[in-house]
Amino acid sequence: MPYIQFLGAAGTVTGSKHLINTTYDSSGAQGYQVLIDCGLFQGQKEWRERNWQDTPVPAREIDAVILTHAHLDHCGWIPRLVKEGFQGQIYATQATIDLCSVVLPDSGHLQEEDAAFHNKKGSSKHSPALPLYTQEEAEDCLKYFKAVEIEKPIELSPELSFRFVRAAHILGSCMAEVTLRTDGQMRRLLFTGDIGRVRDNQVAPGKVVHSGPQEGESADVLVMESTYGNRQHPDTDPRPELARLIRETVQRGGNVVVPAFAVERTQKFVFMLKELMESGQIPRVPVFCDSPMAIKAVQIYLKHAEEYTPQAADLIKKYGSPLGWAGFTFASTAEESKKINDNKFPSIIISSSGMVTGGRILHHLAQRLPDPRNLVIFIGFQAPGTRGAIIKGRAPEVKIFGEFVPIRAQVAALEQFSDHADPPELLEWLRTFKGTPGVTYLVHGEPAASSQLRDLMKKELSWNVQVAEYMERVGVK
Ligand SMILES: [Zn+2]
Repeated sequence: MPYIQFLGAAGTVTGSKHLINTTYDSSGAQGYQVLIDCGLFQGQKEWRERNWQDTPVPAREIDAVILTHAHLDHCGWIPRLVKEGFQGQIYATQATIDLCSVVLPDSGHLQEEDAAFHNKKGSSKHSPALPLYTQEEAEDCLKYFKAVEIEKPIELSPELSFRFVRAAHILGSCMAEVTLRTDGQMRRLLFTGDIGRVRDNQVAPGKVVHSGPQEGESADVLVMESTYGNRQHPDTDPRPELARLIRETVQRGGNVVVPAFAVERTQKFVFMLKELMESGQIPRVPVFCDSPMAIKAVQIYLKHAEEYTPQAADLIKKYGSPLGWAGFTFASTAEESKKINDNKFPSIIISSSGMVTGGRILHHLAQRLPDPRNLVIFIGFQAPGTRGAIIKGRAPEVKIFGEFVPIRAQVAALEQFSDHADPPELLEWLRTFKGTPGVTYLVHGEPAASSQLRDLMKKELSWNVQVAEYMERVGVK
């Protein structure tokens, strides 16, 4: 019987990795083996340590990877898989491949920096501490990627084919519809990857790419994410509040600092600022986008105009590339980044990392957190224990570069920018299904989120829903 094994994103939101094996019998004969996503475990040490464990089947025996999107928790283990001997093809959309060509080498670079840091401090139990993979290894693995068009069926083996359908999560993101033909039976498996917002405009404004995952799906087995299984997004438009916060900060002569992920979130925020400026809701203060990766990501967005929402397409038609917008400065080099600090007038600074775990945002916050005229706005999830969570929680001080920096600036958080559907949106999407899946496995959620969504789906839809467990192997009946 074919089976699926959950090698990650089970009991947590990172490390997405689901193995399909088309045949398996007691003689140990292996069928065609494909991994849906190959993500990095992030966050708590207990999870990160799993990045160092081998896959339960040797990497060289895995025939292919189908990649839903370019977030590291879905693609960040690919260089390691290749390092372990994988030599198959990695199927993804062209936009996902373009983003991976930026995101993966950057991840390798960070792994190298981490190892160097531990070696300098002697803070690793391994001597010498090694990177999970290097920047060069990450660049090298890109040769295994193969671009696949959305909705085009791809035959991987006589018994397994797949096609991508839109997930509307970030640029290039897709769900994988897998068709298995074994034992004279045909079964449809749907792996959602991350699911984008179902509705647009007022409740999820500022989206650059299409809103709304593919409707009318059907599946015998549904493997679905549950990140927001126990949380609901605010149903208010964030623009009036954002405009008011910015106006008040500018009036008192302060700066606005926005920690944001370089891919998707920064682009979304930049588009919204432009809209607010052009409609006269905020003053035309300088905007600095201080992230080399965000600049590369903007270039990739410009290349994939087919994914824009009508609003994003309109903005670009009217005002051209964001990289050329008057008053918007994209800082690429360290020199350009330092110059932002010479600016003594009110401005808006967007920089990464989104959870203030590292990157150029540290310099901007170290300099601006002590001044009550300034404003820090969070537009993304802050994992417990990160500097972002400490600042968002309005602690009196936060440690940056080994020193305690007092938090006197105003701190605000807007929760509407999420790129994940929440429970009402998920139900709305699931109700478009043609027929009831035989079984649904919930992945990619903290235990409380997954179990709450399971209960909700049972109650509202009467579906057979189970929360997937780490390393659990389930037969495809
Ligand atoms: Zn994602």
